[in-house]
Amino acid sequence: MDSTDTVSTDVLIVGGGPSGLAAAIHLADSLKKRGIDDKRIMLIEKGNAIGSHNLSGAVIDPKIFKTFLPDVDISEIPLDSEVTVDKTMFLTETSDNALPFHPPYMNNIGNYSASISKLCKYLAQIAEDKGVEIYSGFAVEDVIYKDGKVSGVKTKDTGVDHHGKNLKNFQEGTTVEAAITILAEGTRGSVAKKVIDALDLDTGCNEQIYSLGVKELWSVPEGNIEAGTVYHTMGYPLQSGSEFGGGFIYGLEDNKVALGLVVGLDYKDPSFDVHAAMQVWKQHPFVSKILEGGTIQEFGAKTLPEGGYYAMPKFYDDNLMIVGDSAGFLTTARLKGIHLAIESGMMAAKAAAKALVSGDTSKASLSYYNELFEQSNAYEEMYRARNFRQAFDKGMLLGGLQFATQLITGGAGVLGRLRTEKDSEVLMSLNAFTGVPFAQRFEGKLEFDKKFTFDKVTDVFYSKANHEEEQLCHLVLNNPENYNKVNIEQYGCPEASFCPAEVYELHTDKEGHKELRIHAENCVHCKTCDIKSPAAGITWVVPYGGDGPDYEYM
Ligand SMILES: Cc1cc2nc3c(=O)[nH]c(=O)nc-3n(C[C@H](O)[C@H](O)[C@H](O)COP(=O)(O)OP(=O)(O)OC[C@H]3O[C@@H](n4cnc5c(N)ncnc54)[C@H](O)[C@@H]3O)c2cc1C
Ligand code: SF4
Repeated sequence: MDSTDTVSTDVLIVGGGPSGLAAAIHLADSLKKRGIDDKRIMLIEKGNAIGSHNLSGAVIDPKIFKTFLPDVDISEIPLDSEVTVDKTMFLTETSDNALPFHPPYMNNIGNYSASISKLCKYLAQIAEDKGVEIYSGFAVEDVIYKDGKVSGVKTKDTGVDHHGKNLKNFQEGTTVEAAITILAEGTRGSVAKKVIDALDLDTGCNEQIYSLGVKELWSVPEGNIEAGTVYHTMGYPLQSGSEFGGGFIYGLEDNKVALGLVVGLDYKDPSFDVHAAMQVWKQHPFVSKILEGGTIQEFGAKTLPEGGYYAMPKFYDDNLMIVGDSAGFLTTARLKGIHLAIESGMMAAKAAAKALVSGDTSKASLSYYNELFEQSNAYEEMYRARNFRQAFDKGMLLGGLQFATQLITGGAGVLGRLRTEKDSEVLMSLNAFTGVPFAQRFEGKLEFDKKFTFDKVTDVFYSKANHEEEQLCHLVLNNPENYNKVNIEQYGCPEASFCPAEVYELHTDKEGHKELRIHAENCVHCKTCDIKSPAAGITWVVPYGGDGPDYEYM
């Protein structure tokens, strides 16, 4: 893309994850079926290559590939292993017990483990073969509007110093005008967030709530775990009354194992630290014996939108559609979003093809996307679990009971629609929190040896995260004065605890004056700070294209 020009396209897709790539591929197919070959489809991805910013578990429900890639045999898709062993374990500090049954929706036999990075690379090749233009290493900063309607996007200006002054190599971002813009930015999309606000697309919706997943990929000695083995863990180190989540351990080909801890960001302890909790979890004998003799290969972290059906914004407007995680397509009860991301991309593609043929890209025309959703498998799956995550806001036990009533009543439960609060608003201040602080809870388990357990900076090394120094900091304090008064004085700088990449440091000088220091270069683009910072203290804006992690098999 030539950065000074205005580029025009028929359809522009922002984000090269499963949802964006599915939209691109299915749109190319749909147009071909209608005999149309003069429409331009562009896809822009901020990672330095397709797949480099994609992180998932991942165990994928493969049924979607039958409709998405009908001519491709499942054996040709670069999935990892078919799941043959599938157990849910309950951990206490010292014991592990397999549950005699799977929690509803969690059966994984017949599903496939996979690297989402690898899957995306494969899908990008298919898209390019069908004529889709893919531009990776470009960051979309905002949409542009014409007469109050979305009319395309602008990519980020580059060559700016950290005060915002233009340098010699300054290049203005490219304006891309598009008849239809499809936002596929994944969890907490930074452009989607602005558009949803600007167009009031979430009026009447539940607050979107999130989890943070921290993941490592290991290479282990043969025999530690078989490919196709899936373990999910409940219990330790999370507290059943106040922390929602659990661990995953997936045995992969070539003696690799993907493992991680996923924790709901509606926890209340301002000192809670998901990255450190994962290092504690790894020390549990059930987990440590699987990793014994192994070495870490990669590290990463990402959030997941968990609010479900009631938190989904209206995902279409004039010239605009939103797909995948950015629109909340994820079923928390299954820890799965990839098949829904693909299905949403396909539905948006069908609506886009119809709109291009009729020449009508208005919201009335694109509401066809919503019509398709209401008749889809995605709708059936998400509507059935519509109250699942909200039920757990008072803890796992009460949540389990509420969920049982939802199963009997087709998702309604006895209380009907359950609401949520913003993750940033449920954190307690230091004074209000009466529980045992995180460091005290896990005393003796928070010394990391850099071989088996890792501090954040060492783990970041394994994400290969990198950011060009000369740019405005992409982590914006919305109100610096208020940040000191509220986030530091009242909450003790929870960002230093919840950021899994040690981007935030609370520095105290000799006089005892405290200030926040930001090491933006470490950021792995998980978006937790944009979600969890008290008083909405921080906004994550997109850094230069190509910056960020460089995942290979996440
Ligand atoms: C720890 C963890 C475990 C999970 N486990 C599973 C599982 O086992 N099974 C399952 O089905 N699902 C799982 N999920 C969920 C699943 O990964 C997501 O639902 C899925 O990846 C969503 O696809 P997407 O295309 O919407 O977003 P993504 O895969 O996140 O892709 C979005 C893309 O957009 C790009 N982008 C974002 N903003 C911009 C911008 N402004 N400009 C340019 N590019 C941009 C990003 O770099 C990224 O490549 C898991 C998620 C996590 C975090
Ligand atoms: S700075 Fe924010 S987005 Fe980046 S790694 Fe830390 S919490 Fe995640």
